[in-house]
Formats: sequence, structure tokens, C-alpha cells
Amino acid sequence: MNKDLSYGNDYKYIPATSVNSGDGIEVLPDLYCHTIQIVNIILVGKPDSKDFVLVDAGMPNSADKIITTIENRFGENSRPKAILLTHGHFDHVGAIIDLVKHWGIPVYAHELELPFLTGKMSYPEADPTVEGGMVAKMSPMFPNEPINLGSNVEKLPSDGSVPHLPEFRWIHTPGHSPGHVSFFREADRALIAGDAFVTVKQEYLYKVLTQEQEISGPPRYFTPDWAAAFESVKKLEALKPKTAITGHGLPMSGELLESSLKKLVEEFDQIAIPDHGKYIDKHSH
Ligand SMILES: [Zn+2]
Ligand SMILES: [Zn+2]
Repeated sequence: MNKDLSYGNDYKYIPATSVNSGDGIEVLPDLYCHTIQIVNIILVGKPDSKDFVLVDAGMPNSADKIITTIENRFGENSRPKAILLTHGHFDHVGAIIDLVKHWGIPVYAHELELPFLTGKMSYPEADPTVEGGMVAKMSPMFPNEPINLGSNVEKLPSDGSVPHLPEFRWIHTPGHSPGHVSFFREADRALIAGDAFVTVKQEYLYKVLTQEQEISGPPRYFTPDWAAAFESVKKLEALKPKTAITGHGLPMSGELLESSLKKLVEEFDQIAIPDHGKYIDKHSH
């Protein structure tokens, strides 16, 4: 069952970090956000329960860190019921092959993301020409070739339900990638946004390093469809989330989240879309 599992051919460790690397924040009693270098993984489930899932799978070479984080929170030898993916970019599936082999658990992702997770299709290459700083400039070294999870990855149920998380539903939020999803819990308006929007200007090394909190659209160097990305941000803003954990940057909540999301929708052109880049045609807006 496991022998067809592999990382992409361009899989490699990426030497980038932030002040939050290795830190964890309990955002809600059952929602824990942990930073692996420059990306967040999320654990959903109460620490005293054996019923929890992992959302996203960190940076390349981070499996040991993720396993330790989980055992520290849920107890020795504990394992999530499943891994849910917001999307399949390298920094969200970096340790996934090791984790699936270690735990023998299923992975769920949107149907449109499956070609990138089963070795069939590469993501567009990162665009280093987008407006932005060092992270954008170093983005050509970021892996974009598909990993292969074989039969270990399944599509999310088409009725919007989320396996093992009955209170959540998934929301299709494409633009940053075709099958990008976010996870939302109506009861307390908790949102796991993935990279649909982020709370740090991910293109700038200094801001990534310091994690200065600032709403931003999806990371620019990896976003090929800005019209869809805008629709997705509008969709998420309309949910009026009270708490949001994004793929990059610190969790955001309350008044700050509400006003930041409103501003992002109103000024999407200025805040999110780069002035230039391979995937930009600003004149058509
Ligand atoms: Zn991404
Ligand atoms: Zn990301």
C-alpha cells in the first residue's frame, strides 16, 4: 500500500525561518497552531481526546518535529485520525510522506488538488518577478513538482462535510491553487484559511522573520489566478469569522480580524495583487 509513496523530484530542505518557528499557540481549547519554520500546521481536537486531526503537513524534513509536537499535546504514540490539506504546495505537504508512513492514516484534499498529490501534475513554477522581497526572490528554489500519495489520498466529501470534524465544513477557496479549501466552524465562527489569505506579507523575508501581523492576500509568487483568489477572499469575509488561523503568520481574531478582512476585500487590488508578475494582467481589472 505504501510503496508508491514519494516526494517530488525537486524535494529539498528550504533554509528559511521565523521568530515563531517551533512555537505553538492554543487559539481555542481544541484549535492549536504550531509554526514549522515559516508555515503553520494546525491540530484540531481537545488535548485529552484521542480524536483529533492534523491540518497541513509542514516544511520538507519536518516530520520529527511534527510528531514530537503531536505527542507533546496528545500523549505518547498518539496519532491523528487523518491529515486534511488546505492545498498541496510544498510547504503544506513537506513532511506528509513520512507522516503517512509513520501513522498509516488517510489524507483528504479537494478533488482539484489530487493531480498535484498523486504525481500527475506540477504546480506552475513560483514567480520571482512578483513585487516583493527576498522570499519572492528565493521562490524559484521552492519545489513545485508533485508528490505522490497514491491511494492514501482521498477527495473531500462533495457534501461539504469534513471527515472526523462533524462541526466543520470545507469551503472551496481557489485562486492560490485550483483545489484550495478552507475549513469553517459555524458554532464559534472559527476559520482555518490556508493560504486563501495570510496574516503576514509572505514575500518579504524581514516580515516573515519577525511575523509582523498584517493582512495580506495569498503568497504572490505561487498564486496564478487572482480573479478567483479575490472571489475566495470575499467568500471568507462574508462568513464573518471570529478567529482565523492562516497558513502563514500569526492567528488573528475579533475586531482586528474583522476590520482587516474588510480592508482586504475593499483594497484587494492594492494589498494583494502585485503590480507586476507572470500571472498578472492588471489592465483587465
Ligand atoms: Zn500555498
Ligand atoms: Zn503556504
